Amino acid sequence: MVGSAPTAYQHPEIETLDRAALEALQDRKLRALGERLAQSREWVEHFASFGMKPDDLRDRGSLRGVAMLEKSALRARYPFPFLTVPMHRVARFCATSGTTGLPVMFGYTQRDVTTLMAFQMSRLLRAAGVEPGERVYQGYGYGLWVGGVVMDWGLLAYGCTNFGIGPGRADAVVQWLRDHRYSSCTMSPLWLMTLVNAAKSQNIDPKRDWTLRLGLFGGQSVSAAFRTELEAEMPIGFVAQNIYGSTESGGPNHAISCRHSHDTDQMHLINEDTILSEIVNPQTLEPVVPGETGEIVFTTLEREASPVVRWRTRDLVKLADDPYGCACGRRAFPLIGRIVGRTDDMLKVRGSMVFPSQVEDCIASLPSTVNEAWQIYIDRDDRVLEELVVAVERRHTASQSADDLRDALERSISARLGIRVRVEVEPEGSLPRYEAKATRVLVRK
Ligand SMILES: [Zn+2]
Repeated sequence: MVGSAPTAYQHPEIETLDRAALEALQDRKLRALGERLAQSREWVEHFASFGMKPDDLRDRGSLRGVAMLEKSALRARYPFPFLTVPMHRVARFCATSGTTGLPVMFGYTQRDVTTLMAFQMSRLLRAAGVEPGERVYQGYGYGLWVGGVVMDWGLLAYGCTNFGIGPGRADAVVQWLRDHRYSSCTMSPLWLMTLVNAAKSQNIDPKRDWTLRLGLFGGQSVSAAFRTELEAEMPIGFVAQNIYGSTESGGPNHAISCRHSHDTDQMHLINEDTILSEIVNPQTLEPVVPGETGEIVFTTLEREASPVVRWRTRDLVKLADDPYGCACGRRAFPLIGRIVGRTDDMLKVRGSMVFPSQVEDCIASLPSTVNEAWQIYIDRDDRVLEELVVAVERRHTASQSADDLRDALERSISARLGIRVRVEVEPEGSLPRYEAKATRVLVRK
C-alpha cells in the first residue's frame, strides 16, 4: 500500500455501489443509448446487419446479442464513421494513431468535453492519488492523439496546475522538473527513462533534484520490473501508476491503478458506469472467469458524438482472481492486470501461445540486460513459427559474460514460457530504440 491516507472517492455515490447496483445502472443507460442510436441512420444500418434494431438494446442481456464492432466497420464509413450528432455539434476531433491506414476520426460534443470527460478523468486522477492544486507535467503528445488533449481537459476539471509540455524538449524538461517543482506527471514510461538519462548527463540527480512523487504511465505497456526500476530512479516514495485507455473509449479514461492495486500490478476499470467493459475469450467471444485472460470489449454509455457498442480493442488482459475485492472499496469496478499483449501480437511457436510482453518479463528479470532495448526476430511474416530469435543488449557494466547471459535467458524463457528460443547478446547501444510505441517483433530474412 502506498501512503496511509484514507481512500478518497471523487464520486462516492457511485464508487461505493455494489456490483448489482452498478449493473442496474448500466442497464438503464444501455436502454437510453439504444434509443439515442435509433435516431442515427448509420447505427440503424449497423444493427440491421445482425438482425437487430438499436432500441432492442434494453440491458446487458440484449447487449450480448449485438455483433462486435470491428475496425473494418469504421473504415467502411470513412471519413466520419458513426458520427451520431450533426457535425456542427462536434467541438473537437481526435483520431486513432493510424499505424495501418488513415487515422479514424472520433468526435466530442461540448458536453462530451466539459461534462463526460471531466467526470471520467477527475475520478481517475483521484483514484491514482493525484491531488487538486498539484503541479503536473503533462507529457502525453498533442495533435489528433487523445492522450494530451484529454489529459488537459481532465486536469483542468480536477483543478491541477497543468504544464502541458507534451513529449520532447528533454534538455529543458530535466531542468524544469527541478525548477518548476512538478509533483505529478503523465507520460510514456519510456519517455521518463529517457529523461532520467538526460538529467544525469546534465549533472541533475532525479532522486535529489526533482520533486516528483507520482506518475501516471500509459500509451506503452512495459513490464512490472521496468516500473520498479523507474520508481527506483525517482525521489523516495515515488509511485508509478498504470493508466489505460484508447481513442475509442474517449482517452486515457478506461483503467487506472489505485494506491492498493498498485502493489499487485492491477488496474480498476474505473468508469464502469459510463464505459461498460466485457472481457471475452478472443476465440469464442464468451466472457472469461476471474483469473483468465481475455480481450477487452467495451461500450461507451454516454458519449454523444462518437459512441461505440461492443468495440473490440484487441487488447488482452487477465481478469483478477478476485476482481471485486480491492481494499480501496471500489467493489463494482473490476480489477485487471496490465495489458499482456494484443490479439494481433500473439505468436504461436510450435503450438504454444507467446506474447512479446512475456518475453520482456524474462529479459527484465535479468540485471545484466538493458531493459528498454530488445527485439524478437522471426524469419517470415507468419505468426505460426518453428523458432524465435530474441536479441538483447548486455550492459557494459555487467559482470556476467555474454555467454552466461545468453544461457540464463534461454533457460528462463524455456522454464517460464515452455518454448526454446535462440538468444543473441549484443553490446549496449546496438539495438533500435523507440520513442513511442516499440516494434518488438521484426521479420529478418
Ligand atoms: Zn482499488
